[in-house]
Parts: sequence; structure tokens; C-alpha cells
Amino acid sequence: MKLHHVGVAVADLDEAISRHERMGLKLAHRETVASQQVEVAFMGDGPFVELLAGASPDSPVARFVAQRGPGQHHLAFAVPSIEEELKRQAAAGARLIDACPRIGAWGHKVAFVHPKSHGGVLIELVEESH
Ligand code: ZN
Repeated sequence: MKLHHVGVAVADLDEAISRHERMGLKLAHRETVASQQVEVAFMGDGPFVELLAGASPDSPVARFVAQRGPGQHHLAFAVPSIEEELKRQAAAGARLIDACPRIGAWGHKVAFVHPKSHGGVLIELVEESH
């Protein structure tokens, strides 16, 4: 398991992309994930910074920003097999948000583990599709 990206919730995606570009991180990928009502931008060469902006006011990320302000949202780890990792996490007693993986940004299989199982940090598991 290795760090794949750090997810950061932002209010203004274009502004956040420009800010990271000024820090020297290039835009690697930008996409709207309709199922999550979120627009994402991956910055850098990996591990990435994933900037997340709500694509609608009632999206989970927009609610996060409205309640807590912009800031760190989750840590994502790359795993060789997401199904195996979900089984391992469940057996270890972790609270899974996604019992089955779904297709996230970049076409990767992703699943989330509840922050209550990881010291208050939302964890995303990523099985890279390429
Ligand atoms: Zn993520």
C-alpha cells in the first residue's frame, strides 16, 4: 500500500489549480465525476494532490466545504487488489463506506473507509486502471 493522493476540498477549482501551478505542480488530469457530483483536478506527478470541488450545492464535497471550510478531505492509498483490501479491512473491523468498489476519477476502482475507523481521517482505496 502506498500513498496515491491527498484529497483537498476547495470552493473554487480554477483558483485552486492556479495556486498549485504557482507552487510548481502541473495539472495532470481534470474530470467531473458525475456519480459523486464532484469536479476533480489531480496536480503533480504522484503522489498527487487531488483538488475536489462540488459540482452542485448539495454534493457531499460542497456540504463539506459549507460546514468546515476548504481543507484536507481524505488520504488515498493505491492497492494491488481493491476487493482483497476491502475484505482485509472488513475482517479487521473497519467500517466501510463502500462495501463494493465503484469507478472513480481516471477510471480507477475506488472505495472509501469511514474516518471513525482511522482516527478521524477518511481513507480512499484506489486500484489503478492504468
Ligand atoms: Zn480521492
